[in-house]
Amino acid sequence: MRIKLAAIFFLLWTPVLFAVDLPLADLIITHARIFDGRDERLRENSAIVIIRGKIVAITDAALAPAAKETIDAANRIVIPGLIDAHIHPSIPVAFSTIRDNDQNYLALRAATEARNILLRGFTTIRDMGGPSFGLKQAIDESLIEGPRIFPSGAIISQTSGHGDFRVRSSEPRRWSGRNDVLERQGYGLIADGPDEVLTAVREQLRSGATQIKLAAGGGISSMYDPIDTVQYVEAELQAAVHAAADWGTYVAVHAYTPAAIRRSIEAGVRSIEHAHLIDETTMKLIAERKVFLSPQAYVFSGVFEPASPQIAGAPLSKSAQVSVGLDHMMTLAKRYNVKVAFGTDVFGSAKVFPWESREFGARLRWFTPIEILRQATSINAELLALSGPRNPYPEGKLGVIEVGAWADLLIVEGNPLVDVRVLEDPARNLRLILKGGQIVKRL
Ligand SMILES: [Zn+2]
Repeated sequence: MRIKLAAIFFLLWTPVLFAVDLPLADLIITHARIFDGRDERLRENSAIVIIRGKIVAITDAALAPAAKETIDAANRIVIPGLIDAHIHPSIPVAFSTIRDNDQNYLALRAATEARNILLRGFTTIRDMGGPSFGLKQAIDESLIEGPRIFPSGAIISQTSGHGDFRVRSSEPRRWSGRNDVLERQGYGLIADGPDEVLTAVREQLRSGATQIKLAAGGGISSMYDPIDTVQYVEAELQAAVHAAADWGTYVAVHAYTPAAIRRSIEAGVRSIEHAHLIDETTMKLIAERKVFLSPQAYVFSGVFEPASPQIAGAPLSKSAQVSVGLDHMMTLAKRYNVKVAFGTDVFGSAKVFPWESREFGARLRWFTPIEILRQATSINAELLALSGPRNPYPEGKLGVIEVGAWADLLIVEGNPLVDVRVLEDPARNLRLILKGGQIVKRL
C-alpha cells in the first residue's frame, strides 16, 4: 500500500506544498521537539517518519502521513540515540576475575552490560578494547539487545605496556612459545617491533575491527608500566597507522602524557584516548591537526580514590596521578576548541557500568549542556566516520536526526538542553528508546 506524503519546502518564505511517493510508514513519532544533534534551536511540533529503520522524512506534526504505528511524544524533546566513544562491555569484570572464569559466563556478563548500555540510551558504542566481535554479531543478528558496536578488538601493546596483562610469574613471551590467556581470549595482544605490530593490527582487522586501539603510554589498570612511560617507538606507531590506513581506517591510542600524545600524532594517530596529563603546546597540536580528543571526566574525578586522605609523603596511586590533570586538560580542550568526543571508559564491574550516565553531569564544569549533547551525538558520529569503509552500519547516518539517518531516537522527559543531568536517570527520564526503528523501551 502506498500513500502520498506531504512535505513542505520553504522557498523565499513561501510554503510550497507538493507530494512525494513513499510506502506506508512503519512508525511516526509525532508532536516532537527535535534536537537534531547539532542545532541549539529545537525544531518544534514535528513528526519523524520512519521506514525500514531509517528516518525518511521530518514534517510538521499536522502534516504527518498515516503509519502502521504512531507514537505521540506529547511535546517532549526527541534527541538522537547517544554514542559512547570509549567503553569496554567485554571487560565486565576485573582481569583477575576474567582469568578465573569460564568464557561463556563472561560472554553472558558482557551481554547483560550491553543491554544495560542500550537502556541508558546509548544506541551506538565504540568498543575500545576487548573481545566484543561475538557480542556485536549477536546484537546485529538480534539474538540479544544491545547497542551498535564499532569494535577495536584486542588492545595492542608492547611488552610491559598498558595492554600487557600478564602476571608477575609469566615467562618471557618471546621465548616461552606461549601467549597469555588474556591474549588468547582477545583482551590484549603484545607485539614488539614494526613487524609484529603489523601482524597484530591485521589480526584485529581480519576479525572485523573498525578501528585499531594501541597503548602508547603508561596506564592505570596495567601493573608493570608506570604512568610516565612512553610506549612504542615511532616506527612501531607508523606501522600500525600504515596497516590501518591500508584498510581504510585509523588508529586510536591510549595516552596521558605530552610525550606519548605528540609521538602518536606525528605518526598519524587520529584519536587520543584520555590525555589527562597533556600540556598547552600539545593541546594546540591536537587542535591544529584536527585530531579527536577522547577524554573521560567522571571516572577520573577521584571516584577510585580511598575516602581517607592521602598519607603525607606516600606515593600517589596511578589513578590519582592521572586525575590531577583532569581540570587542566578539559580547560585547554575548551580554550582551543578541539573536537571533544564523549566517552566514559567504564569497565570491570557491575558497580562501575552505571557510572556511564554520570559523565553528563561531570562535564558541566567545563561545557554547556548543548556542547555535551553534541559531543555525545554528532561529534562522536564524526569520530566514528573515520572508520570509513569499515563502518558496519553504512546505510544510515548516526548521531543526528535528519532524513537518511538511522532511526536511533530517544524521547526525553525534561529538557536536556537546559539540564543535561536528566540523562543521568535513564530509567525514569527516557520515555522511549528506539534503535533502527525498533522499540527497545517505552514508558
Ligand atoms: Zn579504556
